[in-house]
Amino acid sequence: MNENVALKANDLVRIHTAIRLKIEEEIAAKTETRDRKLDELQNLERPKSDDRSQQLDAREVLSREITRLNLKLLALRETVDRIKIGTYGICRHCEESIPVNRLQAMPEATACVNCADERGTLHLVHV
Ligand SMILES: [Zn+2]
Repeated sequence: MNENVALKANDLVRIHTAIRLKIEEEIAAKTETRDRKLDELQNLERPKSDDRSQQLDAREVLSREITRLNLKLLALRETVDRIKIGTYGICRHCEESIPVNRLQAMPEATACVNCADERGTLHLVHV
């Protein structure tokens, strides 16, 4: 049984709006974290201590975190766009509706469980 069949269009709009609000909050929080890390990184660019290797390590860790945050932000913004233009919640492979409980657990999912599983991307946040 596909639970989406039983869901009324109004319910879907309500659920998508709730997901969108949640994502927008996450975008705001992650943007703040990213900016804070960029500041930290900039402070590290001006070396003041004599332990340069330690600073290089810290810089690399920060750069990696910033890259990860930027990728996540990109996926989240794309998700908001899909909600806005009405293509959200549709599997990009088989074009079936992605079950609402999957979207609630993983809002940036672009494939249904079957297709994601088949392609080995079930647990990938962004492909
Ligand atoms: Zn699918």
